[in-house]
Formats: sequence, structure tokens, C-alpha cells
Amino acid sequence: MPDTRLPKKAFYSELKLGKRSRGGQFKRSKDCLKANLKNCDISVDTWEQDACDREQWRKMIHNDAAKFEANHILQAKQKRAQRKSRQNQALGQTGIQCHECRKTFLAKIGLYSHIRTHN
Ligand SMILES: [Zn+2]
Repeated sequence: MPDTRLPKKAFYSELKLGKRSRGGQFKRSKDCLKANLKNCDISVDTWEQDACDREQWRKMIHNDAAKFEANHILQAKQKRAQRKSRQNQALGQTGIQCHECRKTFLAKIGLYSHIRTHN
């Protein structure tokens, strides 16, 4: 790809002037691309050489993206299980029970909304 093409200019360009704001910086598209490469276990330094062989590159991208997605789903499930176990522990300690069906709620408003369903 010639150096004058817009995608190449955007990916390799750097700002010479400018201030960085306090706190977290906004991510540029370049940063997002690098983060995605890292998430897919693709080397940020050598991806250009890997991409020269298009067929191999497409296989690699497809496989690594599938691995990343499976790992991401697994992590989300683990995170949900941890959150649910924490909620269940909290319910065991300070739950408020419905007098009619013995369902437990964390907050009074949840019980209040639930009691309306019994009417
Ligand atoms: Zn109830």
C-alpha cells in the first residue's frame, strides 16, 4: 500500500503538538487496533509481515478471533458466577423474605414490587 493512502496515514501518524488531558486518555483507533491484536495473541511488531501472506493471515485472524471470543465468553460467565455468589451471600445475611411465597429480596423496594404481583 502506498504511503499516501489514508488508512496508512491514519495508522502510522503521530501528533507532534497537543496537550494530554488529566485522567484517562481517549483511545485512538490505532490504540484500539493494537489492543485487538494483543487480545487475539497477534504480535503488534510482526503483524505486517504475517499479513503479507493473505491466506495464512486470514486463517490466523479467524482462529485467533475465535479463541479470543471463547475466552471472553468464559471470563464473562466466571464474572457473572462470582457476582451471583456474592449476591446470594448478601441475601443470606440481610435478605427480606416475602411472607406469602418465601422469595428473598435485597431491598425493600424489590419486596414491595413483588408483593403487588400477589394481589
Ligand atoms: Zn411472594
